[in-house]
Amino acid sequence: MPAIDEVTLHSLEGIVGVGRVLTDADSLQLYGRDWTRVHTPNPAAIILPDSIEQVQEIVRLAAVAGLAIVPSGGRSGLSAGAVACNGELVLALDRLNTIEDFNPIDRTVRCGAGVVTEQLQNYATEQGLFYPVDFASSGSSQIGGNISTNAGGIKVIRHGMTRDWVAGLKLVTGSGELLDLNRGLVKNNTGYDLRQLVIGAEGTLGVVVEATMRLARPPGELAVLVLGAPDMAAIMNVLRAYQDAIELSAFEFFSELALQKVIAHQGLQRPFDTPAEFYALLEFEQRDEATMERAMNLFEHCVEQGWVLDGVVSQSIAQAESLWRLREDISETISRWTPYKNDISTVTSRVPAFLQEVEAVVNKSYPEFEIVWFGHIGDGNVHLNILKPEDLPMAEFQQRCGEVSKWVFDIVQRYGGSISAEHGVGLLKKPYLHYSRSELEVSIMRQIKKAFDPAGIMNPGKIFD
Ligand SMILES: Cc1cc2nc3c(=O)[nH]c(=O)nc-3n(C[C@H](O)[C@H](O)[C@H](O)COP(=O)(O)OP(=O)(O)OC[C@H]3O[C@@H](n4cnc5c(N)ncnc54)[C@H](O)[C@@H]3O)c2cc1C
Repeated sequence: MPAIDEVTLHSLEGIVGVGRVLTDADSLQLYGRDWTRVHTPNPAAIILPDSIEQVQEIVRLAAVAGLAIVPSGGRSGLSAGAVACNGELVLALDRLNTIEDFNPIDRTVRCGAGVVTEQLQNYATEQGLFYPVDFASSGSSQIGGNISTNAGGIKVIRHGMTRDWVAGLKLVTGSGELLDLNRGLVKNNTGYDLRQLVIGAEGTLGVVVEATMRLARPPGELAVLVLGAPDMAAIMNVLRAYQDAIELSAFEFFSELALQKVIAHQGLQRPFDTPAEFYALLEFEQRDEATMERAMNLFEHCVEQGWVLDGVVSQSIAQAESLWRLREDISETISRWTPYKNDISTVTSRVPAFLQEVEAVVNKSYPEFEIVWFGHIGDGNVHLNILKPEDLPMAEFQQRCGEVSKWVFDIVQRYGGSISAEHGVGLLKKPYLHYSRSELEVSIMRQIKKAFDPAGIMNPGKIFD
């Protein structure tokens, strides 16, 4: 265990209370990591404050003592942003988990940073409203973590990213000061929008302690279509046909291999017998009968054009949910192969060529690697997953994947894409940031960090050094 002196531990206990500073081996392991399994957790202690004032006091103490802080949410992150492997203090927001001040006119609600995403979704439903940011880890991720990663998910094509739902937020800076940013306003053109800088900053500018989140009108009954396509170009044609005629709330895709793995391990049924190279999952609101008729006509058109080989449309909420599981259960299913995961994007229209190039470059050197593709294709975001062959030692797999990353990011750069579409940079993507951001941009980011965090204690070493 890394050393933290008794006096500091005692002072921290004085702030949060006995039993709220954890140093036992299990807690250090649990809170020192996120969903990635690349780095060995090694935090000095875990602190569990239950008020904004306590967070301020902890940060002030850390700034004076020169101790680094890693803010920690639901630890479902996929870029090692919440990993503490250098004797840092992990500041876990779990206890700031209240939802208050619902305002039906503004359609906003005030959330502690530790509110779990699903808790907010359920709260919105109870008010007859809707919180649309959603993804497979909503049951564990927290609003503070969602804001700090600008989480996207399965409804971005219709509802945007977390950024679009933050009406205001409170941030404890690296000096322990409290910033109250935007205060729930819709219109506020008074200089730089610091709220937006904090969103996606991965805890490097301070600790998000509270947020005013917007809620939306709930959607009507949702229909889900799963369509099998012969190739990626056909998927693009399907996207174009449907998005021109119907307002889609999701347009996801997955490969045949992804489907096979999910079916084998989750006890689900194939959506239909005809095998296809790729599958598109579309969701839309069934506003009236005409919408469904349009969807069915489009289906026939896509079949006639050869873009769709087969398909199924949900007939009930239960069937819609089980069709969604074909896509949503992929991450968890393939985690048993400790996959190399990459979350990359380009403009949507260039995805087919982009995907082909990536696949060719991996196949050329490592034809034995199984590639599982899935993702949010409607917004140009694909998840590349390479499964570790059983007989290949982990260290060697990681070394080969390191090579793969460079090849893939060269392609991303040529396509003007992003090396991290929605999972952030953290420790995992830090060495590759230059593929997406210029030297000047990174230097400006460093200066911004200095303004928020002069002592450099907020999640140091994440995004950039
Ligand atoms: C199965 C699965 C599916 C997923 N699907 C998606 C998806 O579709 N779209 C998507 O965008 N992501 C997805 N993710 C990734 C992840 O769930 C999101 O990045 C999520 O927003 C992380 O939230 P968290 O609370 O778990 O944050 P953590 O992992 O705890 O932290 C993430 C980062 O935010 C910082 N942080 C956390 N809380 C705070 C705070 N209060 N103040 C300041 N900084 C803070 C951490 O230091 C870290 O840098 C998925 C993950 C899994 C495991």
